[in-house]
Amino acid sequence: MGEKILIIEDEENLVKGLKLNLDDEGYEVSWAIDGEEGLRKSLQESPDLIILDIMLPKMNGLDICRELRNRNILIPIVMLTAKGEEIDKVVGLEIGADDYLTKPFSVRELLARIKAHLRRQKREPSAVPSTHTLGDTEIDFVHFKVRRKKKESVLTSLECEILKYFFQHSGEVVTRDMLLEKIWGYDIFPTTRTIDNHILKLRKKIEDNPSRPKHILSVYGEGYRFMA
Ligand code: CA
Repeated sequence: MGEKILIIEDEENLVKGLKLNLDDEGYEVSWAIDGEEGLRKSLQESPDLIILDIMLPKMNGLDICRELRNRNILIPIVMLTAKGEEIDKVVGLEIGADDYLTKPFSVRELLARIKAHLRRQKREPSAVPSTHTLGDTEIDFVHFKVRRKKKESVLTSLECEILKYFFQHSGEVVTRDMLLEKIWGYDIFPTTRTIDNHILKLRKKIEDNPSRPKHILSVYGEGYRFMA
């Protein structure tokens, strides 16, 4: 059987269409029509990836995402937002979603992103050691955690990949294009805004003062420079 994908979405026609396409690609698909069922299936079925709608009966997608990340469940989550829910996108990324698509979206694009997320998750462990220290911050790449000043936060798989890449290119300028190509690897690129949102989140987790970063520095017009 292929990788398992859980769709949490209450629009039945959309689910039927998605399921057909995902079946064709060889994925094993299950589906939940409300938020509570979605959370339960996320926990019981341990899918490899979740497609998560935001507006859902009983429990919304943002709360589901938050709950899963709080429980240290770090599988890729692709959120679906409707037009006019722009704020939810940002919130979604902040609470640990890996990606989002605005409805109506092309199924091809969704499939490309699913593939990219699953491929990234399966990639061989890199040469970066499993833990790293940055000042008084400890980054644990095995358990996807950051510990600083007795506070522990969880890294998403995407954040881990970005940080590993930064460590491998410490001191160098890392452009947004490099991040797009190496980390996202999409056929269809996310916007640079998406990258910047993830960097903001990472800074909050690893920097003493996220607005005056010492480790993930901005390089005007280029991207970032990571200082270990
Ligand atoms: Ca909905």
